[in-house]
Amino acid sequence: MMGMQYHELVIVGGGAAGLFAAAMAVDKGIDVCILEKNPFCGKKIGITGKGRCNITNTKPWEEFSTHIHPSANFFKSAFRAMSNEDTIRYLNSIGLPTVVERGCRVYPESMCAKDVSMTLAAHIRNNGGTIINSCNVIECSTVENSNDNEQSPETPVAGFTISYEQAGRTCIMQGRYLLLATGGLSYPATGSTGDGYAFAQAFGHSVTQRFPSLTALVPEAYTSTFKISSNAIEVKNVEAGLEVNGSEVQREFGDLTFTDGGIEGPIGFKISRKAVENLINGQKMKVHLDLKPAVSLEALIARIERELEQAQGRMNLNQLLRKLLPGQLIEAFCKSNALNANVQIGSRKEISRLASLLKDWQFRIVDYVGYNRAVVTAGGVSTKEISQKTMESKLVPGLYIAGELLNLDADTGGYNLQIAFSTAALAVNHIAARNSE
Ligand SMILES: Cc1cc2nc3c(=O)[nH]c(=O)nc-3n(C[C@H](O)[C@H](O)[C@H](O)COP(=O)(O)OP(=O)(O)OC[C@H]3O[C@@H](n4cnc5c(N)ncnc54)[C@H](O)[C@@H]3O)c2cc1C
Repeated sequence: MMGMQYHELVIVGGGAAGLFAAAMAVDKGIDVCILEKNPFCGKKIGITGKGRCNITNTKPWEEFSTHIHPSANFFKSAFRAMSNEDTIRYLNSIGLPTVVERGCRVYPESMCAKDVSMTLAAHIRNNGGTIINSCNVIECSTVENSNDNEQSPETPVAGFTISYEQAGRTCIMQGRYLLLATGGLSYPATGSTGDGYAFAQAFGHSVTQRFPSLTALVPEAYTSTFKISSNAIEVKNVEAGLEVNGSEVQREFGDLTFTDGGIEGPIGFKISRKAVENLINGQKMKVHLDLKPAVSLEALIARIERELEQAQGRMNLNQLLRKLLPGQLIEAFCKSNALNANVQIGSRKEISRLASLLKDWQFRIVDYVGYNRAVVTAGGVSTKEISQKTMESKLVPGLYIAGELLNLDADTGGYNLQIAFSTAALAVNHIAARNSE
């Protein structure tokens, strides 16, 4: 056991929430230290937004909030304390120019995700904050207080003891306040291995059921139906309906991608949260894909009839489908629906069946792709035990939790990083306000 350091605020995890919190902390004159497992902070930030980092989304709260799960209500105060617009202004002010793209998505002007973490880390270091990399936190506890009886929820405990391993040694740090910002379980290679759940549990916190979200859904017999090598098949402007135990629970319009993992892409991801949660809980799941949502079934039948008429009986199903679908999709469409692409179709019944399949291609979902490839973790530290006005634990005064570790997640579009930034900022605001009391 070696060395003992003290900092007013100790942050476990130098990801999006940890870095943002420390940047805010140095601005407010708080003596802060980040303990990060990786040799550098923000490894996950570096791969966000396909390497470009979709920092946030400029949509107003009314719309923004519809993308937050399981309840936007818990997030409201945090968003008020550090809104999407505040975040952009703040990042700009510390040297990260940003641009707004399609779908109100905000990116660094450089289009380089690493610039986000590097700008934050530089701001922390340049303003007196401490970052200790390559240290793996193994335990967090409260410092025993000799006058325990005098404790009330308003008075912080004397502080926290944090044990971590660094270069084969076990070290101890103490802090007056502790912020857990260790992230979730997705993409564990980035350092987010879910350690924070155990830390929170050791303080008495409960953790809700966790499951991968924003991930691929795997239909029955997928790999034998879809022969996807490196190129995924993208279908644009389609509609996907999610059916659970026979009833439709969600319907989304947009683009969808068939990858080597399964059904994903923007609307695949959107339905994945409900789908995975229900699959885990043993429910029966189907995805209904409408490849022609802009036309009615009758109009589609008429269109097919017109095509066949023009071809005067010289068109087989494959040639007909080429006029209706992306070429790479035809083989899978025929295989999945037991259609022979080499024969001619002509009877009213065949045309009607084909149109129905194009409007309602059904996939029985039997699996999902796990944390290795899921963008976020749904579920986490129960928000019932965290004050939504401060992000402070209701069980242990002085303990704060921020980011994906909480039972809070969102759709794609910059919302998840905003959760990390806003919850981190709210925690630091509270610590600063406490200090000035
Ligand atoms: C491929 C991918 C793309 C994404 N793209 C976007 C996007 O464009 N926009 C968006 O809004 N969201 C995106 N997300 C989601 C977003 O990155 C996360 O929601 C966000 O990073 C969560 O922030 P966090 O600080 O809570 O956790 P993280 O960023 O995961 O940080 C947690 C940190 O804690 C450290 N840590 C963990 N355990 C310990 C320990 N025991 N000791 C010390 N350190 C520890 C980890 O090493 C890590 O650095 C993406 C996610 C993925 C996987």
